[in-house]
Amino acid sequence: MTEDPKEKSSLMEKIISLSKRRGFVYQGSEIYGGLAGTWDYGPLGVELKNNIKNIWWKMFVQGRDDMYGLDAAILMNSRVWEASGHVSGFSDPLVECEKCKKRFREDHLEDKAKCPECGGKLGEARQFNMMFQTQIGAMEGSISYLRPETAGGIFVNFKNVVDSFHPKLPFGIGQIGKAFRNEIAPRDFIFRVRELEQMEVEYFVRPTEWESSFEMWRSQVHAFNAAVGIPSENVHELEVGDGDRAHYSKRTIDFEFDFPFGRKELYGLAYRTDFDLKAHEVGSGTELKYQDPETNEKFVPHVIEPSFGVDRTFLAVLASAYAEDEQNGEVRTYLKFKPAVAPVKAAVFPLLKNKPELVAKAREIYIALKKDIPQIMWDDNGNVGKRYRRQDEIGTPWCVTIDFDTLGENPALLDTVTVRDRDSGEQIRMPVGELSSFISSKIKEEI
Ligand code: ATP
Repeated sequence: MTEDPKEKSSLMEKIISLSKRRGFVYQGSEIYGGLAGTWDYGPLGVELKNNIKNIWWKMFVQGRDDMYGLDAAILMNSRVWEASGHVSGFSDPLVECEKCKKRFREDHLEDKAKCPECGGKLGEARQFNMMFQTQIGAMEGSISYLRPETAGGIFVNFKNVVDSFHPKLPFGIGQIGKAFRNEIAPRDFIFRVRELEQMEVEYFVRPTEWESSFEMWRSQVHAFNAAVGIPSENVHELEVGDGDRAHYSKRTIDFEFDFPFGRKELYGLAYRTDFDLKAHEVGSGTELKYQDPETNEKFVPHVIEPSFGVDRTFLAVLASAYAEDEQNGEVRTYLKFKPAVAPVKAAVFPLLKNKPELVAKAREIYIALKKDIPQIMWDDNGNVGKRYRRQDEIGTPWCVTIDFDTLGENPALLDTVTVRDRDSGEQIRMPVGELSSFISSKIKEEI
């Protein structure tokens, strides 16, 4: 990525514009003028997002025998958020400009006295709670909150999972889902939004073994980045100092990424001690302990929490993949996604749209391939060169062309197709029967 600030801002503009034009991300409620901090994922965006989530789920839930999956309700009993400390403490310092009335997060300002927009005087900071409050049912006073993080659902289901599966320590529960934060200043495209998605693990350990589990998750964070195509040289670990950590956390590492708008938090990894389970024991009156099957000793496990934002991963993947080069004397834009995250794995097309025998053969190959690999696209608009450009721009790793040789014009090439590689532009001839296993093996070898 470039170091020049001007180029960086134009990179961000290019990414946002490509995202909209090609159906990755649209502004939320756009035809009504939008709603700040909300974005809608379009047909390609939802595929990319699902690929990211599936890689995470496979790596951290299905692929391990010490992990359990969960999908808890977004609405929870409001006492959950009282016990966890969110009702009293999940807030950011808010300041308002006395002149232009714009509001800012005080901890994001370099000069805390002066408005960054108009230079006016900033008022006193006050704590602003970021939870969205909502009313449950028709009874007045029955309030709850849209969950501000997915972790709460995991802690309140700790006992359920233990009772159903009797796991031995260390073990974890993983969950992917929406969370809501009434951010004072949503910004930077999908980086800071009010409706977000998280992928979180609460990994329960014996107090004595927290360090080894912390190190294990620390390396797993890097393994996940590698799997989705976020280069390690653009990810930096920030050891959060004593004064900046939550009071219950004994160690926190923020994983920061070089976003086009600066180095900012991508993920967090925290050792949360036994704070959460203890707080929910007190709040609910239910015992949340683990009984050692050998010694019968009962204790509240400690927790290591790796927390991943889906939207920030999406943006980091997109920014890492964005590339421009020159092919055949023309500048081209392409997204060099890893095959595992690419929203479309291959595009299939007939060389010519107006030759029924080519179209029929191409449709046959397309339908068969799509049965094995659903993320396959049909494209017969314009000439082959234009189709390549279009597919490059959405990051499709391979374009498959059905031509007259496929039909046997050259008998030696009967039932073979041209497969063109996105990054090199090189073309190879491949038997139709090998297409599916070629693409599948490339997707798998990446994870
Ligand atoms: P920040 O300091 O950037 O506000 P945070 O430290 O409050 O983030 P956590 O509470 O640790 O974030 O949340 C865990 C993860 O959830 C973050 O690392 C990030 O990936 C994601 N996340 C948090 N808030 C947002 C948001 N408003 N928009 C998008 N993703 C978010």
